[in-house]
Amino acid sequence: MEFETVIGLEIHAQMKTKSKIFCGCSTEFGAPPNTHTCPVCLGMPGSLPVLNRQVVESAIKLGLSTGCTLNRDNRFARKNYFYPDLPKGYQISQFDLPICEHGQIEIEVEGQVPKTIGITRIHMEEDAGKLVHDEREPVSYVDLNRTGTPLLEIVSEPDLRSPEEAAAYLKKLHAIVRYLDICDGNMQEGSFRCDANISLRPVGRKELGTRTELKNMNSFRNVQLALEYEVRRQRDLLLEGGKVVQQTLLWDADKGRTESMRGKEEAHDYRYFPDPDLIPVVLDEAWIEAVRRLLPELPDKRRLRFVRDFELSDYDAEILTASRELADYFEEAYRAFGNAKKLANFIGTELLREYGPERIGACPVRPGQLARLLLMIEEGTISGKIAKTVFAEMLVSGADPEQIVKDKGLVQMSDEGALVALVREIIAANPEQVQQFREGKTKVIGFFVGQLMQKTKGQANPQLANTLFQQELNT
Ligand code: ADP
Ligand code: MG
Ligand code: ZN
Repeated sequence: MEFETVIGLEIHAQMKTKSKIFCGCSTEFGAPPNTHTCPVCLGMPGSLPVLNRQVVESAIKLGLSTGCTLNRDNRFARKNYFYPDLPKGYQISQFDLPICEHGQIEIEVEGQVPKTIGITRIHMEEDAGKLVHDEREPVSYVDLNRTGTPLLEIVSEPDLRSPEEAAAYLKKLHAIVRYLDICDGNMQEGSFRCDANISLRPVGRKELGTRTELKNMNSFRNVQLALEYEVRRQRDLLLEGGKVVQQTLLWDADKGRTESMRGKEEAHDYRYFPDPDLIPVVLDEAWIEAVRRLLPELPDKRRLRFVRDFELSDYDAEILTASRELADYFEEAYRAFGNAKKLANFIGTELLREYGPERIGACPVRPGQLARLLLMIEEGTISGKIAKTVFAEMLVSGADPEQIVKDKGLVQMSDEGALVALVREIIAANPEQVQQFREGKTKVIGFFVGQLMQKTKGQANPQLANTLFQQELNT
C-alpha cells in the first residue's frame, strides 16, 4: 500500500522587542534567573497587563508579508492550564479572533515546482517561564525571566507533503522573520521553534489520518530528521495492520528517535475565554499603511531581482538571498567590484564556508575589502589561487588585502624575463614530458605550468606561464 505524508507546522517566533509583551521588563536572554520580573509577569493579583505596541506592529508586518487577512478587531484570550513555569495559571494568547488569518507562503523543494502552503492563522501570545533541572539535586528551579516574552505563533494548514517540504517551509518563514527584523531566528536559544504534526493516509484518500505531534526540535536538520523517522515509524505500524495513536512525541536527537511524552487522554481542555483585563486590539487603516511602508524587500522578491539585475543563476540568487545580511553584503561588494558572477562564486565558496548566511555580520572581512581583493585578481596583481590565501589571512586578521599582499610579498610574477629562465630550467629537467608534448600530447602543458607554480609558490601569472611554455616548447 502507498501512503501520503501530511504535515502541518506550528511555529513559535520570539519577537525582538526590548520589553515583554504586557510589562516593561527586559527580554534579554541569559540574565541571572528571576531578575527580569515584575508583578505583572509574575502574575501577582491586582496587577494589570498593558499591550506592547511593537508586538502588534511585528504581527502586522508578518501578516502583510504572508498574504494574511488582518483582523481589524482581534482580541486576547486566556488559555488555562497548570504548570510551575506559568505563575498566573493561564497564558494570555489569542483564540477565536487572532490578529492574522488565511495567509500563504511559497516554497520550493529542489527539483519540484514551487508550491503554496496555507497559513491558517498567526496570533500573539506570551511565553512561559523555564524550569531548570539540576541533575545533581532532587529539585527543579523556576526561572521566570522568559515569562511574558512576546511570541507570534504561526500555524500552517496541513499542506506539507514531505519532511523536505516541511524543512523548506520552515526555512522560508525563518528567512521572512529575519528579513522583517522582528525575530532574531536563533533556534539554539529557542527564539524560533517548531512543533510538527504529522500523519499518513493511503494515497487517494481525502480524510486525514491520525496524527502525532513532534516537539523539541531545535534545528532545520532535526525537524527533517525527526519527521523522516516518524514517517517510517507510522508507515511500518500501518503496514503491520496497527493504528497510529494520537500523542505528543519528543525528538531525541542523540538517539535519533522519537519518544512518547503524553497521550491524547492527557490532552488539555484549556477553557479559553476572552481576557477581561485587555481591551480588543483595533487596527486602523492608517496604522496598517504606515507599517506597510516599513516593509523591506522580502527574500522571494529579492531573489528574482538578483536573477534579473545581476544575471545570476537561480541557484546563486537563492544562496545569496538566504539572509538579509548576506544579500546586503553581496550588493555592497558588487557596487565596488562589478562582476556579479565572479563575486557570487567567491562568496559561495570561500566566504560561506567560514561564515554562514546568518553569521555574515560577524565576518571581519567587510564587503569593500572583498571587492578590492577581487579587483587585484582582475588587474593581474595576484592570481586567483593567491587570492584565496590572502582571503584566509583577511578572515583571521581583518587586514586589508593590499597590506597582506605587500607584507607577504605575494605580488604575482608577471616579469617575462624572470619567468623565462625558470621555464627553460623546467623544460631541461623534464625531457620525458617534452617528448610527450612533441608527440602531440599538448595537455602536458598543465604539468609544466604546475611545476612553475610550485617553484614560484603560486605567484607566476598563469596565463603568462602558459604562453611562455608554448613558445619555448614550440621552438
Ligand atoms: P491543536 O489545537 O492540537 O494544536 P490544530 O487543529 O490547531 O490542533 O492543528 C495544529 C497543526 O496540526 C496545524 O498546523 C494543522 O495543519 C496540523 N494538523 C491537524 N491535523 C493534522 C493531521 N491529521 N495530520 C497532519 N497535520 C495535522
Ligand atoms: Mg498543537
Ligand atoms: Zn514584568
